[in-house]
Amino acid sequence: MENSSFISPLIRDLRPYQPGEQPLDSGLLKLNTNENPYPPSPRVIDSICDEANRNLARYPDPESEMLCATIASFYGVARGQVFVGNGSDEVLAHAFNAFFRHGNARLLIPDITYGFYKVYCQLFGIPPGLVAVDPSLRISLENFAVQARADGTIAGIVIANPNAPTGEGLTLDAIRYLLAINPMRVVLVDEAYVDFGGHSAVGLVAQHPNLLIVQTLSKSRALAGLRVGFAIGQEGLISALKSVKDSFNSYPLGRLAQQGAIAAFEDLTYFEQTRKAVIATREKLARQLAGLGFDVLPSCTNFLFVRHPKHDAGWLAGQLREARILVRHFPQERIGQFLRITVGTDQQSARLLSVLAGILGGRAARR
Ligand SMILES: *Cc1c(COP(=O)(O)O)cnc(C)c1O
Repeated sequence: MENSSFISPLIRDLRPYQPGEQPLDSGLLKLNTNENPYPPSPRVIDSICDEANRNLARYPDPESEMLCATIASFYGVARGQVFVGNGSDEVLAHAFNAFFRHGNARLLIPDITYGFYKVYCQLFGIPPGLVAVDPSLRISLENFAVQARADGTIAGIVIANPNAPTGEGLTLDAIRYLLAINPMRVVLVDEAYVDFGGHSAVGLVAQHPNLLIVQTLSKSRALAGLRVGFAIGQEGLISALKSVKDSFNSYPLGRLAQQGAIAAFEDLTYFEQTRKAVIATREKLARQLAGLGFDVLPSCTNFLFVRHPKHDAGWLAGQLREARILVRHFPQERIGQFLRITVGTDQQSARLLSVLAGILGGRAARR
């Protein structure tokens, strides 16, 4: 690289996370980044507009106290057990920085999971310890235990529950098991998709000082564009996160984000309606894709991870793109023949299925 002497050595070698495509062309059907197909609650929009007309000349509350109180009462935890950030990716970054930098000790993460974890390991100089998922791509508790024992001292454990991109939901006993094999370090459970059918471990926080839950408003609350995520854990962990945050950016959430997020938690009826609609569409779509010959992994999320025994996944993704439908294909080991398809509305599913039927039937894809 030219002038590479300008760049810090660590940054020169970074391999950043590649987010799914966000096309400017609105005619594409986006089933590639697990956004909610429904708009956010109308109450969210009202609150954001009210706030925009009020106080934008003033800095926001640096601690987002009202939002933390709202989240705390929603989940039945203390206000001091909640931390909020500019999207859960930022919360995760602060957590990696705060809890997992223990010299050469490795951070255990599944080999097939959310791609950002490895990127944060690189950014913060944390050696990752990849723990193989089993042949059906399920998280193997046994492999975690074997590796924790082999390493002796580990930096911690990070898992997504439900896992991405596989869609697998773990039981709370599985989480308890991971907490038990790693009592000296933090177990971070990323619950980005938990509202679509997973089991939240928030109830375990009271008994486990080493448990940190991370969630987001981007998926189940249809607010990917607002950037709000949060963590729940005992006060010791939360105050460490606050000290990282205040050493980085005191005001991660703007006024609009704080007010919009509060309204999203207040409109429980809308949340339940849209969440259940996505789950119902997912179950129907899973059966219909199986009917087209796809292997469909069981999913507790708002996406399906599927493979067709007769058609290359990269080719299928390309064919879908020509028909103006985006899905996610990860050309990497073990999952290169899978597609991750976000669950949309029933109408969007119908469009996907008719295009897929055309592709598989050897005819030109229809629009
Ligand atoms: C989408 C996603 C996130 C990031 O969510 P933001 O709050 O939008 O940053 C984190 N973890 C997983 C597993 C995700 O799928």
